[in-house]
Amino acid sequence: MSIKTNIDLLNRELATHGARLVAVTKTHPVEVIREAYDAGHRVFGENRVQELLPKYQAMPKDIAWHLVGHLQTNKVKYIAPFISLIQSVDSLKLLEEINKQGQKIKRVIPCLLQVFIAQEETKFGWDAGDLLAACRTNAFAAFPFAKIEGLMGVASFTADEAQVSREMQQLAGLFAELKSTALTPNMSMTELSLGMSNDYRLALKHGSTLVRVGSGIFGARKNIQP
Ligand SMILES: *Cc1c(COP(=O)(O)O)cnc(C)c1O
Repeated sequence: MSIKTNIDLLNRELATHGARLVAVTKTHPVEVIREAYDAGHRVFGENRVQELLPKYQAMPKDIAWHLVGHLQTNKVKYIAPFISLIQSVDSLKLLEEINKQGQKIKRVIPCLLQVFIAQEETKFGWDAGDLLAACRTNAFAAFPFAKIEGLMGVASFTADEAQVSREMQQLAGLFAELKSTALTPNMSMTELSLGMSNDYRLALKHGSTLVRVGSGIFGARKNIQP
């Protein structure tokens, strides 16, 4: 199937759940992104700053770029001027740097807090308890140039659907809990970024508002990345 067909089918399915599609283009060249762009798609995700920057420069400027991979503090300054959503904020230290860079250029930078829900040790993210505690002590009020719009999670990569479902429920539960908690003015629980090619249908059942699909649109990646 063509990229356009894949995107159209996904968009139709997501629309019935009120969710939106982030097309994850990591490892794919600009020509491939262009094909999705020409099909009308405007929201794209990359997981590495080094790869995002040349693509941002090469593509039209009405694209909303999301960063979905681990972000090193020394790279924040490169994406601060244009990034539409940093989905992978996994520490207070990173948030502090995002706030600092945002302040420097007077731009409030939209973020999601990535929560650790998988069993794999390699995945990044907040511990749910630590995140709740930080919210209850208004720790995020110190970062007015970071606008925290919700949570992001990556479930375990496994065929065990019950386990994936448990992990997603954990994140959905935290999202609901925070939604009913008094949050600082720079925080809202609007977006729940959950689901990838292999598990997005399950994610929709758990209330995902943003699904991040790569291989399901563009085919398998040649070089596998963490
Ligand atoms: C690569 C990646 C995706 C997309 O993965 P697919 O399995 O190709 O759909 C989604 N989220 C994150 C964080 C990723 O790194």
